[in-house]
Parts: sequence; C-alpha cells; structure tokens
Amino acid sequence: MLNDQFGRQFNYLRLSITDVCNFSCNYCLPNGYQCDTPRDFLDINEIKTIVNSFAKLGTKKVRITGGEPCLRKDITDILKICKATAGIEKVAITTNGFNLLDKIDEFAEAGLDALNVSIDSLDPKMFKLITGHDKLVNILNGIDRAIQLNIKDVKINAVLAKQFNHNQLSDFLDWIKYRKVTVRFIELMETGNGAKFFEENHLNGQALKTKLLDQGWTQVVREKLDGPAEEFCHPDYVGRIGLIMPYSKGFCKSCNRLRVSALGKLHLCLFANEGIDLREHLKSNDTLSTINAIQAAMANKEISHELDKRLTGVTTHLAMLGG
Ligand code: SAM
Ligand code: SF4
Repeated sequence: MLNDQFGRQFNYLRLSITDVCNFSCNYCLPNGYQCDTPRDFLDINEIKTIVNSFAKLGTKKVRITGGEPCLRKDITDILKICKATAGIEKVAITTNGFNLLDKIDEFAEAGLDALNVSIDSLDPKMFKLITGHDKLVNILNGIDRAIQLNIKDVKINAVLAKQFNHNQLSDFLDWIKYRKVTVRFIELMETGNGAKFFEENHLNGQALKTKLLDQGWTQVVREKLDGPAEEFCHPDYVGRIGLIMPYSKGFCKSCNRLRVSALGKLHLCLFANEGIDLREHLKSNDTLSTINAIQAAMANKEISHELDKRLTGVTTHLAMLGG
C-alpha cells in the first residue's frame, strides 16, 4: 500500500491519456486547445506498465481522464487493459461525453464500472455558452444509455461559476428525481491561466450545502477511503447530490489519489510544483523501477494544496492533468 508521512493511504490513480480537448470550457480552455510543442502521449504499453505498477502498490481504482480521453482511438483498449490488471477493482472514466452515445456500449463491454460526465448546465444555451458546443441533448442521451446498460456508478460533474450556472440546482434536482445518477457540484479551482475567471466566478459550495440540508437532504456517511467529496441523499429522489469543496478546511485530509499526466509525470497533488518524470521507466516497460520511483516520490507529498494562498503550482489548466 502507498502511504505518506501524514498517514494517508493512496489506492486511487487518475491517469491522463491526452491533454488534447475538443471543447473550450470557459473555466478550463477558454481559447480551446493550444498545441505549442509536439506531443508524445503515453502509448498503450506504457499505460499497461503504469497501471500494473500502481496495482502492485495497492491501487484498486483507476480513472482515465484528459484533456478529452475519448478523442483517443485506442480508448476502449485502454479501458480493457485497466480492467484486466490484477488488483484493479474499479475502472472509471471522466469525459465531456461528446461521443458517449456512440461509445458507451463498447465501454460497458470493456468492463467500465464508473462514468463521470461533465455537464455544467442542463440549459442547452448555457451549456453552449460554457463549453462552446451545442451537444447537450446528445450527451444526455449517452448518459441514459449508460444507465440502461447498468453502469453501476454514473456521475455528473458540474463546476460552479457565479456568472453562469449558480442557479442550476432545481434543474438538476428534477433531472435526478427518477435517475440513478449523482450530480456533483465542484467549486471552481484557480489555475495558472484562470486567475481572472476565478476572481469573477468562484462560489463557495457551503451555501449549496445549507440549501440541500434545508430541503431535507441528508449527508451520507462515507467510507474512510472514499476521498474528499461529500454526498447527500433524499427519500424523494433516486439520484444523489455531491459537493466537492477544495477550499474547505481539512479537504486534503482524506486525499486518496495520485495522478499521472499523459506525458508520464507523477503529480503528488493536482497543484504540485512539479511532476516527477516516470518516462524512462515506462519506455522500457520496467515495472520494478517504476514502482521504486513512485515509492521514492511519496516522501515529498505535501500535507495539503495551498489554493487558499492562490498558489496553483505547475497546473496552468486542468486539461493538462485531468482534474
Ligand atoms: N474533458 C473531460 C471532462 O471535461 O470531463 C476530462 C478532463 S476535465 C479537466 C476533468 C474535470 O475537471 C471536469 O469535470 C471539469 O469540469 C473539471 N474542471 C476543469 N477545470 C476546472 C477548474 N478550474 N475548477 C474545477 N473543476 C475544473
Ligand atoms: Fe475539455 Fe474537460 Fe477542459 Fe472542458 S473541462 S475544456 S471538456 S478538458
């Protein structure tokens, strides 16, 4: 098991497989994906080595993310590799859902356990304003197909932004009344490129929590290794609401995840000051030396991020690492 000096255990890997994205979400890539250097993303053998190394260190869950992971032609093979790795119990993906309706049957067959789709508004006009794309209906159809296919764990990620979607709660509540989906509202996080957007749009999730509790929602008790999200249920709703509040006190106490970028760098935190290069170990598909490098790096994991001091580390936007 991977541990740090603060007694936390890390059983969850977020693996980015590309930083390219086809959307231009205003809080992430407002000018769309800009490619300034040639990209050499991890190939399928390197991915196999990473997942295997983490699994041998006690990782139970892998989330494939990006950029937009479903832009990769080998995405289904990547999911299959994760699923086939001894020790991995849960395979998840985070996607903007642009081709979900076409792909979800294939993903289900590959063994996908959990699906997160980013939808910041259920109003098609607002959705287009935020993401630059008019694809909401198609994405929602993809989610309904995932539910039909019995994907066990379906979640929506909605980033809270004051000037855009602060009043979306009732739309989402109507939508989850009869759908087994968890809608997770995420507090906007500051990134290197996003200071101005952050200043204009950051909303504390606490007000939403108070509103939920006032409306009869109950906070669900979560397991020790469940990570920092808070979750709420209500007897009149099939779905649940989640809140991710990275600016709240003690948020990092339950950190259970490590990240690897699409270029093979291990990030001990989403807002770490550097990524630790694993590429030389991965290129030679050397699981043992990859394991040693990961273990050695753990000594440097900080107790928490410093977003409250507006320190965003090397993360210029979350598409570079996957959120
Ligand atoms: N493209 C995929 C997607 O949008 O789901 C995966 C990558 S995206 C970077 C992962 C998650 O990070 C998304 O749910 C997105 O909304 C969230 N995200 C991006 N920038 C963010 C920010 N500044 N603050 C909070 N969440 C952010
Ligand atoms: Fe792309 Fe996801 Fe960033 Fe939106 S949040 S621009 S979909 S990487």
